[in-house]
Amino acid sequence: MENYKKIIEDIYFEVKNVNDIGKVANYIPELATVSSDNFGVNMTSIKKESFGVGNFDKKFSIQSISKVLSLTLAYRFEGAKLWNRVDVEPSGNPFNSLLQLEADLGKPRNPFINAGALVICDILISHLKNPKEDFLAFCRELSNNPTLSYNEKVAQSEKISGFRNIALCNFIKSFGNIKNNVETVLDFYFYTCSLEMSCKELSEIFLFLADDNFTTHKGNKVLTMSRAKRVNAILLTCGFYDESGEFAFRVGLPGKSGVGGGIVAIHPDKYCIVVWSPKLNKKGNSYKGMLFLEKFTTKTASSIF
Ligand code: GLU
Repeated sequence: MENYKKIIEDIYFEVKNVNDIGKVANYIPELATVSSDNFGVNMTSIKKESFGVGNFDKKFSIQSISKVLSLTLAYRFEGAKLWNRVDVEPSGNPFNSLLQLEADLGKPRNPFINAGALVICDILISHLKNPKEDFLAFCRELSNNPTLSYNEKVAQSEKISGFRNIALCNFIKSFGNIKNNVETVLDFYFYTCSLEMSCKELSEIFLFLADDNFTTHKGNKVLTMSRAKRVNAILLTCGFYDESGEFAFRVGLPGKSGVGGGIVAIHPDKYCIVVWSPKLNKKGNSYKGMLFLEKFTTKTASSIF
């Protein structure tokens, strides 16, 4: 960790001064209320050493980053059966696209686009007694952090503006790949997206994908090594919408972004690093977040390649 601190700090200040050509997401009205000046970075090593700069301790809307947590819980319930309902191929299309679903007969390309996450939410609803409470409890156990919670305002804001998600969910239902009530699935999905965490909290909760020996504070293993490897593989190939190739090319780590401006990147066996800067590039990924991580893995020569 000591070696990384100065590098993180130097790159942070270098990127902070770069002219940000991105735009804050405003299709979810509540997200547009966040100040675009926020910029934070936090790294946590598998030895649980942590280092943060800037707004690393401030909670923000993790949005699609929650798709990794919902996938993890569904994978625990379903094992390999899960892949009958959701594929593991990059989509090459925007995160909220309806296009491929028609040809693919309602089977989403992967669990990290909205269509895939809706099916994952449907699967969780079939397994959980109280989906919202149980999912939150799972996240709290994973991070040993009882303060984690949903942001009610963000969830409601998505609900009234989520026309594409409503269309997606109904469309998938028409193919029979949503088993529960569409409103129930959408409601649960919107809440999962509204989870709030800081860069520090995110870099802690995702340690289970970096550390093969990770167990929760209750002594539970989250995923087997083989399953964690598979989730990391999907993160590398599908974690950044239709810019996943670009992220692998420039940064070289498995990771996931969200339209709240957060990016989580994982170096298996080493660390988890999280950047938050709300302005997004045209593909929906944090402009400064990607820039920071590109410089970071280059300077530290610590990509997986
Ligand atoms: N809640 C957002 C949506 O459904 C998530 C998008 C994202 O972060 O990629 O549009």
